[in-house]
Amino acid sequence: MSHQSPSEIYDDVVRRNPGEAEFHQAVREVLESIGPVLVRHPEYAESKIVERICEPERQIIFRVPWEDDRGEVRVNRGFRVEFNSALGPYKGGLRFHPSVYLGIVKFLGFEQIFKNSLTGLAIGGGKGGSDFDPKGRSPREVMRFCQSFMTELHRHIGEHTDVPAGDIGVGHREIGYLFGQYKRVTNRYESGVITGKGLAYGGAHARTEATGYGCAYFVDEMLTVRGTSLDGRRVVVSGAGNVAVHAIEKIQHLGGVAVTCSDSSGYVLDEKGLDVALLKQVKEVERAPLHVYAERRGRDAVFVPGGSMWEVPCEVAIPSATHNEIGEADAGLLVRSGCLAVAEGANMPATPAAIRVFREAGVAFGPGKAANAGGVATSAMEMQQNAARDSWTFERSENRLRDIMRDVHDRCLTAADEFGMPGDYVAGANIAGFRRVADAMLALGLI
Ligand code: GLU
Repeated sequence: MSHQSPSEIYDDVVRRNPGEAEFHQAVREVLESIGPVLVRHPEYAESKIVERICEPERQIIFRVPWEDDRGEVRVNRGFRVEFNSALGPYKGGLRFHPSVYLGIVKFLGFEQIFKNSLTGLAIGGGKGGSDFDPKGRSPREVMRFCQSFMTELHRHIGEHTDVPAGDIGVGHREIGYLFGQYKRVTNRYESGVITGKGLAYGGAHARTEATGYGCAYFVDEMLTVRGTSLDGRRVVVSGAGNVAVHAIEKIQHLGGVAVTCSDSSGYVLDEKGLDVALLKQVKEVERAPLHVYAERRGRDAVFVPGGSMWEVPCEVAIPSATHNEIGEADAGLLVRSGCLAVAEGANMPATPAAIRVFREAGVAFGPGKAANAGGVATSAMEMQQNAARDSWTFERSENRLRDIMRDVHDRCLTAADEFGMPGDYVAGANIAGFRRVADAMLALGLI
């Protein structure tokens, strides 16, 4: 029997999914890593595990009609891609952003399969969202949109089937509206159907902080392996959403000095270290642009409209804004400034060319599917608490998160070592994540 090579499989994926550049990019990165695994495990090729993994189990696209505050009818498109359920119910966030189309949802869903596998927990991979732009929308408009979105989505999800959560544009407020509508249309208080809930109605302690905290822990592990630590290290962080703010907070707890963050208007450089309380007030409470932070902080901080944040010299970088935000030239700037480690807080923020630059320069590079796995891991803890009708303390959740991040980190390095690529977190994450899913798919038969 002849088998397709990873590059032939990749060509097929491109042919079968035209115009979905981000999905192609995510698939390519994984396929480039797993060649040696396929050589060692011919049974994977025999049952076409890779071809099957690249094809979502189910893709749902739906109309989301809603009415704005002026009484005008608006129509958006909703998506849920249920990618792989070999390890557990589909699990992954919802993204509300004008850039969302099927290719973005598929890239995120594909990444989620391996990320969730790496956590060691019983969660499959999925993702969803809409091209709805929450920017400038009133809270009432956001609520009506969420209700309409869930009026369709509810029939496809369930605590044992598919469990959404937040992502860009979907935070506590939106999760509350989505859960409220699910409860209303199904007449079921099924807490485990969605994660990232508020603490009053089934949410878990540390879920809000988990992605950013987990990322900081991951950096700490990377530096420990290199015989150093975060102590006194200068850290640049991009983004000013949930991931960035909590990465900054934990970096400071661990002794680092986080000096930047950014939003769509520009970036802030705060040489003495960002004031996290002020940042939370401006971005989370007031939902104001970042220049407001700089004005209130006074002369310590400067706001830089536009421009590349990656020209700010640093020892650690945590890109936490969005996909493909670090290109080849940006990576070159980081390398020249003496950057030791990069950990992706966002999903796929570094382009393949940028990753190549980091690898060639010997910079430790933690890909998102490992470095930001703390968010979804804590979502799985939320599901556990919901199933048991229990609530853990913050301390218990955070300790578990810390252990999981250490395990994720070690799984990457162990797999990379085993296949002769020591220190390569990209290869290690892809191999370790892939193998667990592949073994489960083999065991479950041709389904
Ligand atoms: N959107 C997050 C991620 O990219 C979290 C998903 C979840 O908690 O289900 O992993």
